[in-house]
Amino acid sequence: MKLILLGAPGAGKGTQAEILSRKCGIPTISTGNILRAAMKNGTPVGLKAKEYVESGKLVPDDVIIGIVRERLAEDDCKNGYILDGMPRTIPQAQALEDVGIEVDAALSIEISDEVIIERMAGRRTCKDCSATYHVVNNPPKVEGKCDNCGGELTIRKDDAPETVKARLDVYHKETEPLKDFYEKRGKLKKVENQPTIELTTKAIVEALGL
Ligand code: AMP
Repeated sequence: MKLILLGAPGAGKGTQAEILSRKCGIPTISTGNILRAAMKNGTPVGLKAKEYVESGKLVPDDVIIGIVRERLAEDDCKNGYILDGMPRTIPQAQALEDVGIEVDAALSIEISDEVIIERMAGRRTCKDCSATYHVVNNPPKVEGKCDNCGGELTIRKDDAPETVKARLDVYHKETEPLKDFYEKRGKLKKVENQPTIELTTKAIVEALGL
């Protein structure tokens, strides 16, 4: 299964990707997590990405395409993968096709901007392993600590309300046209956001016929 997850920032792509990844035994490639790790480690890619990520803008396509091509060439991607947060522009989607990377489906999680803005205020992210939680919908077992690794839970800088609005604008302008791109290729599947994580997973599993 080679899957692309589409959806606004905060739609639940990362959460659903983790669940599907465990269910299907394939890795999730999250460009956001790769960039945050690079920023934390101060690598050249991280230094380049920092101002874009922190202000809610998109990192230039050439940087992203380079990262993803390298990552998909690794051994654990042989049997499939879930792309979370890439492609985010038509040129990125085109670049995947140009290097012969074909996916089975592009699944879009549909959710309103109002629900996103409410939801992002409660999002917490593990500083060490990037797992995400929500203070109400998906709390950790111990407040402020990651269930997976015990790392400290923090608020992502780009989850600040003004930055969330900027990211939603970028999503509608740059990323939403990808739905048409994959629709034309017969690959688009749409799933409505559901009241709980489990119900959204159920809808996704049904849509993908897993
Ligand atoms: P995410 O964790 O997917 O919400 O990504 C966080 C931030 O990383 C985005 O707001 C962008 O600044 C950057 N980013 C992640 N993936 C991409 C991508 N495919 N293209 C451009 N920028 C990206």
